[in-house]
Amino acid sequence: MRCDLAALPVAEPGRLQGAAAQFDRQASGALGALAADERFTGTRGRTVLMHRAAGPARRVLLVGTGPAHTLEGFRRYAAVAVRRAQDVAARRVLLVIPDAAGLSKDECVRAVVEGARLGAYRFDRYRANAEAAVVEDVEVFAGEEAGAAAALALLAGDVTARAVEHARDLVNEPPNVLTPSALAADAERIGARDGLGCTVIDAAEARDLGMGLFAAVAAGSAEAGKMIVLEYRPGESSAHVPTAALVGKGITFDSGGFSIKSADKLWRQKADMGGAAAVVAVMGALRALAVRVRVVAVIAATENAISGTAVRPGDIVRGPAGKTVEILNTDGEGRLVLADALTYAGRYAPDVIIDLATLTAAAAVALGTNTAAVIGTDQRLIDDLLRAAALAGEPLWQLPLYDKFADAMRSELADLRNIAAGPGGGAEKAAGFLRQFVGDIPWAHIDIGKAAFCTEDAPSLPYRTFGGTGYGVRTLLRYLTGLMSAT
Ligand code: MN
Ligand code: MN
Repeated sequence: MRCDLAALPVAEPGRLQGAAAQFDRQASGALGALAADERFTGTRGRTVLMHRAAGPARRVLLVGTGPAHTLEGFRRYAAVAVRRAQDVAARRVLLVIPDAAGLSKDECVRAVVEGARLGAYRFDRYRANAEAAVVEDVEVFAGEEAGAAAALALLAGDVTARAVEHARDLVNEPPNVLTPSALAADAERIGARDGLGCTVIDAAEARDLGMGLFAAVAAGSAEAGKMIVLEYRPGESSAHVPTAALVGKGITFDSGGFSIKSADKLWRQKADMGGAAAVVAVMGALRALAVRVRVVAVIAATENAISGTAVRPGDIVRGPAGKTVEILNTDGEGRLVLADALTYAGRYAPDVIIDLATLTAAAAVALGTNTAAVIGTDQRLIDDLLRAAALAGEPLWQLPLYDKFADAMRSELADLRNIAAGPGGGAEKAAGFLRQFVGDIPWAHIDIGKAAFCTEDAPSLPYRTFGGTGYGVRTLLRYLTGLMSAT
């Protein structure tokens, strides 16, 4: 257990507990005495770095976690520790995980592993003078009694964090690199690696299949639109297993079309594929987590561009099941491509459909920038997702789906309009539009409008930095592994 830096989380009022106390005994009780010397009370966000002449670690970092240890507090602690280790050029880091009342040791291990990996995340492949990563090795010490379950939790945390990194990379890639074709190529790479079925439907084919709304949006761009389908089947199982369908909005750049966005909002529109990024990343983690349900992903990938062939405000386009949509605002493109993707997902007769989309700014008006909204037709599914999100540490809050929200999407000229009549309720009304395309299949829509991308105006967390956040990956993986254990 020798290391360059050992880190310990300390809850108020500053006592070393559980594994931290065990670790301290191995260090002859010096840490507790030192912490007392420093009058370190465990206030959240405070740290103290102590240098020691002898013992298993020459440097010890105490990280305050506030009044009580929580899973979220452990995630932040681990991220703070790994970042500090980078700053002080510590190559080998030991993260101590104390016992915490009411929290399972496995969950604590998983939270620490996730926080450590995500805290170290950087996207600097386009920088010539990027700072080299110093930390080579991160170990966790969960107490002498931690067993095989903790080892599994460590693996699950590692796979999950890698999937979040994957989603962040996809969001952070610039829109001239991460085109719909590039996203399709990434899905194909995952499919080949993990034995997933992968089908890529191009825009012309999509039109023939009746995906008129997706094709109408894709028609405006020189980049070919791609409807991407990935299918995961659990190994060796011959019995019937439930099917979850995941649908991702993959607008690789959203100009708004003729209803163009203002210049100050345009630069971040590469993140309008945050839902697709999360879904692709989730699909790439299922085999490693040995998920025991069938999962089908449908990703609508296209740009929303401006050109002579772009859809116009006022156009009426025929969508799934012959439904016509009056496109009153071309910036409401997400719900159009999702209508076709949701309908296509229904072909797989899934037990549930979950879509993840950077759909509205209205969700963030209600909930703030870090929290996503969940809206749907099935309360059990929504409750499962809320539980999964709470464990995963991704803030998620339910908004209602009243009939009046669907009514607000009726057009004077066509079956539907793509922009709601009347003020307010933008996130709910958008969901009211999507609801027309899921039939009777239990469905939940997660609006990650401003949770997918972190900017200066959104407070960062120690494990979430500027750029893509990978929101949704941890919740969906929790949900899919939980669904597995429930069957
Ligand atoms: Mn838009
Ligand atoms: Mn959009």
